Amino acid sequence: MNEKILIHACCAPCTTATLEEILADYPDAAITVFYYNPNIFPAEEEEKRFQELVRYLGRRYGEKIGLIRGKYDFDFWNSMIEPVELSGEGGFRCRICYYLRLLEAFKKARETGATHITTTLAISPYKNFEWLDEIGKLLSAKFGITWFLKRWNYRRSIELSKEYGLYRQKYCGCEYSKRRD
Ligand code: SF4
Repeated sequence: MNEKILIHACCAPCTTATLEEILADYPDAAITVFYYNPNIFPAEEEEKRFQELVRYLGRRYGEKIGLIRGKYDFDFWNSMIEPVELSGEGGFRCRICYYLRLLEAFKKARETGATHITTTLAISPYKNFEWLDEIGKLLSAKFGITWFLKRWNYRRSIELSKEYGLYRQKYCGCEYSKRRD
């Protein structure tokens, strides 16, 4: 049986090189991108990043790659994060943020029958790879879905973003990162 992969994606630029690498590693897999980012503030920014992802996937892959948009449940996300917002970017609040997004991605993977799951978040040099991998492994054991993660090629994502003229946001996503604390 060929792999059925769900890729949690935060935005188009981070999806570019991640997806390229996964397609090279799993050429026969059925791949779906899951955009789920209730962390993004404001809502217009979440919409903008989603539309850029739609544009990129359509232009480069046509119908080959599936795309699912998760619910923008900002109030729930913020109720979990706001009490620890003072930990700052790269701190404890980010760990919770990773967990909330990956948990939802695993639920979606289970719902859609995915055999494998990963996230584009590991492409960013500003993200904590070890935390992402730890959370992914814990959820993998619980959900029975294979987790895989690499330090995706950040330099290649910049090249592809330029080639396709993609919008590259200047902050991670949440209002706290927007404030540059
Ligand atoms: S800085 Fe980024 S990873 Fe950290 S809480 Fe904000 S949106 Fe989430």
